[in-house]
Amino acid sequence: MSDPDIPIPATARVKLDRAALVANWSALDRLSGKAKAGAAVKANGYGLGVRDVVSCLLAAGCEDFFVANWQEAREIEDLTAGKAAVSVLNGVQKADMPFASRSPAKPVLNSLEQVQRWLPTARPCDLMINSGMNRLGINVADLQPDILTGLTIDIGMSHLASADEDGPQNRDQLACYKAALEILPACRTSLANSAGIALGEDYHFDVTRPGLSLYGGVQRPELEKVVRQVAALQAEIIQVRTLEVGDKVGYNAQYIACCPHPIAILAIGYADGYLRGFSGRGIFRHGDAKLPVLGRVSMDMVAIDLSHAPGLSEGDWVDCVYDLPTASAQSGLSQYELITGLGNRLSREWS
Ligand SMILES: *Cc1c(COP(=O)(O)O)cnc(C)c1O
Repeated sequence: MSDPDIPIPATARVKLDRAALVANWSALDRLSGKAKAGAAVKANGYGLGVRDVVSCLLAAGCEDFFVANWQEAREIEDLTAGKAAVSVLNGVQKADMPFASRSPAKPVLNSLEQVQRWLPTARPCDLMINSGMNRLGINVADLQPDILTGLTIDIGMSHLASADEDGPQNRDQLACYKAALEILPACRTSLANSAGIALGEDYHFDVTRPGLSLYGGVQRPELEKVVRQVAALQAEIIQVRTLEVGDKVGYNAQYIACCPHPIAILAIGYADGYLRGFSGRGIFRHGDAKLPVLGRVSMDMVAIDLSHAPGLSEGDWVDCVYDLPTASAQSGLSQYELITGLGNRLSREWS
């Protein structure tokens, strides 16, 4: 048997910056004006590790967390119990009831069926209004006060579909949500995600629900100077070689050397979330030296050009350019996909 106590060092890692996460939450809380910022921590804290993210934001003063499902609520229950509210955005399905009706987390009720299902529990809930995204939520036309009698609604919320753009949909959704609030007996109100916070005071209500921007995403120019990078991707060089003119690199020979130069093979690939959109486009760095990705990204490896850092060798580490706006422009992938896709094989190291 192998010895379970001998550590196996990772060859690629995500360095996570606690101070940047807290600074982002505090900045978004400030930008939310009179509203208080909560935090969307679904999908394992957007892939960064939900328990670390929640511990950090609890200490910063965050009092409302938004997860997708009951598994995610359970994963943070010991951290949040008695300290913060947890809302389950996907609502409550029939099969969830045995767990949900005993959980301290609240379902975000998304349909009249879910309202009926939840009423007998006499427990608090949130409620989602469909203001035009047509994903989840109760239509305003179906909102009759008598249907809601007996419900204790904490947050009556809706969700913006296009807050990252300046089109007419934001105003339309705002008007629709306000009409719903005339009827809805909720303790607190909430509409804005990260980008919605930047739309201004009209969109803030009582609670905001930033997600992406907590983790370094920038979807609107107003947030450029406000949001800091939280996750930095680094990989180890596992082999160095020298190409001759005409040598080809990687699957389908998508790079062919036109002069002799050194390259390095890194132990990171699309199985780690460094997706094929970075083939021939991604950039690594060592100090000031720029080390472009050559050819296709493989499952577990990628080749980079070492022309500007010929002294590097096996065991050295290089930094991936992975600030979300830049990496999104390079790869054509959304900032959401880039952050939530970081694989489990990467070690996550908080500082
Ligand atoms: C994911 C989500 C958010 C957070 O959105 P970001 O764009 O990541 O800030 C807020 N509200 C709801 C309902 C969500 O599903």
